[in-house]
Amino acid sequence: MKFELRLSLIYCVLATLWIILSDAVLAAIPIPALVNTVQTYKGGLFVIVTSLLLYALLRWEGTIQRRSEQTVQRREESFRHLFQNNPLPMWVYNLDTLAFLDVNEAAIDQYGYSRDEFLAMRITDIRPEEDIPRLLESATRNRTPLQHSGLWRHRYKDGRMVDVEIVSHRLDYAGHDAVLVVAQNVTDRVKAQAALRQTNETLQAVFNAAPLAIFRFDEQGLIRMCNPAAERMFGWSQAELVGRFPPFVPAERSEQFLELIRGVLAGEPLAGFETQRQRKDGSRIDVSIYAAPIRDTNGTAQEVISVTADITERKQMQANLLEQERLRLALNKEIELRNLRNRFMSMVSHEFRNPLAIIASSSGLIERYYERMSADARRDHFVTIQAQIKHLAEMLDEILTLLHSESLSPEFKRAPLNLAELCNQLVADTRLQVQDTRQIEYSVSAPEITLEGDSKLLHHAIGNLLSNAVKYSPPQSRIRVELTQTDDQIMLAVQDEGIGVPEENRKLLFEPFYRGDNVGDIPGTGLGLAITQQAVDLHGGRVEVESEIGQGSTFRLYLPAAPAAI
Ligand code: ADP
Repeated sequence: MKFELRLSLIYCVLATLWIILSDAVLAAIPIPALVNTVQTYKGGLFVIVTSLLLYALLRWEGTIQRRSEQTVQRREESFRHLFQNNPLPMWVYNLDTLAFLDVNEAAIDQYGYSRDEFLAMRITDIRPEEDIPRLLESATRNRTPLQHSGLWRHRYKDGRMVDVEIVSHRLDYAGHDAVLVVAQNVTDRVKAQAALRQTNETLQAVFNAAPLAIFRFDEQGLIRMCNPAAERMFGWSQAELVGRFPPFVPAERSEQFLELIRGVLAGEPLAGFETQRQRKDGSRIDVSIYAAPIRDTNGTAQEVISVTADITERKQMQANLLEQERLRLALNKEIELRNLRNRFMSMVSHEFRNPLAIIASSSGLIERYYERMSADARRDHFVTIQAQIKHLAEMLDEILTLLHSESLSPEFKRAPLNLAELCNQLVADTRLQVQDTRQIEYSVSAPEITLEGDSKLLHHAIGNLLSNAVKYSPPQSRIRVELTQTDDQIMLAVQDEGIGVPEENRKLLFEPFYRGDNVGDIPGTGLGLAITQQAVDLHGGRVEVESEIGQGSTFRLYLPAAPAAI
């Protein structure tokens, strides 16, 4: 029941009760003259009480009305505040005339028109010409109270065109049928979306046109997506591939494939991983795979994108090239060997011819003039013949050693060997040979200097250096032999105070049969250093010579402590 009706009814009941009860009290008064007086006071009291009540009611109502007026005013103020200070551009326009009725600060700020300019315009004035028919249709169409009108284009005063998203609300504005509009500038978003669309289209075009097979795999290795090149490369259609475990991974490589997927997801991208795949027709192809993880917005790797290149032809070509190169090297080696052999043979025959000529001449002389020749002359010729035979025998020995070490090279075998002991032995032998005419000093950095090597070859190599030092230095001079070992290298130096090697001879000293210009009558074959060089080469070492004419020479032999593989 309404408040006013309830109040009236209460008043009616109370007033009626007052009349009935006060009249009953009057009827009980025994003095008639007093009745009239009380009657008058009763009426007066009634008027006073009802007047007071009426006054209280009117005051109360006035207060309520004032309060509601204040509330309305406050609401209006906060609406204006919200409207004026809203960071989004807002305005109100007349739905009949499309003229702006009000506009907020953000709109003035962004669009560049002053408030007065806005209020003198229609909403069509901030649109590009071509959008106006659509705008008119949208404005006059049946409107819902709240309307999301979507994406529009607005033009600022300076001519700039922006994309805006419009939300509007129909309202009564100072008696006008009006619409409140909120326009949010979404140009950046629209541009970003357009750029994203373009990127997507580009990627899609690349995906479709790429000559390489591109796949997207999920965590289980199932194919999520593949491109036309993948169909061509492996022979299955996209429909046959998508959603399946890749049928082109050979059974024996499926575990490896899953490991690769797990590895890429864990942050180990693949770059040129080479493996084999099989085609639908069963044939095998060599492939090179590049793969990287695809991460979601949280940065978690969810899928793998892989690019696969068919490298079967390249592999085949590489194999062919390798084979060609191997053949070419073998042929070159063969040619080189043949040349070497020829050169060697011509050198040998040349070197043999001299002593043989001497032997022939001496023996011829003996034969022809035996009777007439004195015994001394005959002996001289025999001595010459024997010396030449000795020389030939030595030469043969050294040639055989050289040939032996050359033929050893392919299957050169090593055994642990104490070089300190070997040198000690060689120095002792040499001392014995020279019989106190020479002082031979020997120093070694450790009692054991071991390496893996061929003792026979090293014996020849070091023995040659020692015998040369003796041979090419005067009696009573000093010879120093020094053997040292550093971390990874062994060094043997043989130093003499002999004739030295002329500078112009030093380069060719290690060539077979080559002898220095200053050797004079000192006998020799020119093969010793060639043998030394050969032996040291086989052990992965090197020989160096330092010399000064008339002062002496130092031959240094370097060997790796752990010899390099041959
Ligand atoms: P050979 O000593 O039989 O002539 P090698 O091959 O041992 O042959 O030496 C080649 C040449 O090197 C020698 O003829 C000599 O000219 C030179 N040569 C080698 N060792 C020495 C040395 N210690 N002092 C001077 N010259 C040397």
